[in-house]
Amino acid sequence: MSAASNQNLKGRLLRDEPMARHTSWRLGGPADYYYVPADLDDLRLYLQQLDASDKILWVGLGSNLLVRDGGFRGHVIAPLGALKTSRVEEDGSLYVECGISCAKLAKICQRQGFAGGDFFAGIPGTVGGALAMNAGAFGGETWSVVESVDMIDRQGRLERLPASQFEVGYRQVRLPQGHWFVAARLRFEQRADGETSNIRELLQRRNQTQPIGLPSCGSVFKNPPGKFAAQLIEGAGLKGYCLGQACVSDKHANFIISNDATTSAEVEALIEHVRSTVAQRYDVELETEVRVVGETA
Ligand SMILES: Cc1cc2nc3c(=O)[nH]c(=O)nc-3n(C[C@H](O)[C@H](O)[C@H](O)COP(=O)(O)OP(=O)(O)OC[C@H]3O[C@@H](n4cnc5c(N)ncnc54)[C@H](O)[C@@H]3O)c2cc1C
Repeated sequence: MSAASNQNLKGRLLRDEPMARHTSWRLGGPADYYYVPADLDDLRLYLQQLDASDKILWVGLGSNLLVRDGGFRGHVIAPLGALKTSRVEEDGSLYVECGISCAKLAKICQRQGFAGGDFFAGIPGTVGGALAMNAGAFGGETWSVVESVDMIDRQGRLERLPASQFEVGYRQVRLPQGHWFVAARLRFEQRADGETSNIRELLQRRNQTQPIGLPSCGSVFKNPPGKFAAQLIEGAGLKGYCLGQACVSDKHANFIISNDATTSAEVEALIEHVRSTVAQRYDVELETEVRVVGETA
């Protein structure tokens, strides 16, 4: 690939960048290439230079990502803080680029008097990650407000697609292979007279039940239909259980907490231990919400 030496690129290219700097678990070995595009045109140029065989990983705030200790042999695309345009369109929809944080999106909604955007404040990711995961909190869900998305492919081609073209489920969205989200148009109702935003209240509620402030990726497992993963894990006696330096939180059993000495291998082994223990105890196969990527050390 020739992107590293291309003089026309205006973004920031890092080599052998430790992914531990870019994930909320603070874990993960180096990515061969880590690119923060200057803008959308620059991103297109970068993608156009890659070989068809080059692996690509998009990372937002890395809050749902376990990168293995051996790192990632390919190109990480990191639009956080780079693709950050937002505007209210003439038709009243909200255009947001994928590198905007969900916390910022919640604030934009608050400022614009949009109802139904507060839940984004509870998601410590980016718009791109929220679209990819159909992130949700406090009863709200990302794709319930999506009208259309702008996608980019490996050749840097852009395409606008309506939300109706996507198969969306609980914490999952089916993406066409080799396509990523660069922006979305969201549709909110206007807040009724006297109706106020309750972001602070929602965050307080979350702080009471989750180990906020400790390195984690939020919920490791999806809730199985009609059940809560945290209850199953607690019921299997695993609340507070540690494997090496990776521990099931003693505050919320669906969170795994790391520290400075934890390895990704320990977290992955703990995930498997929790999964097999719950399967034995309840005959329920837990499915991970967190995405595991990269090479073992
Ligand atoms: C303390 C804590 C609490 C959490 N609470 C919640 C919660 O209440 N609800 C909830 O749903 N989640 C929660 N999460 C998980 C996480 O914040 C969400 O899944 C979030 O949407 C991930 O966004 P991100 O930008 O960090 O994505 P990343 O973790 O960087 O990436 C996640 C996945 O999305 C892909 N991706 C990222 N950007 C793009 C893009 N532009 N186009 C295509 N694919 C892309 C990545 O390749 C990866 O597969 C929590 C996490 C933490 C640490």
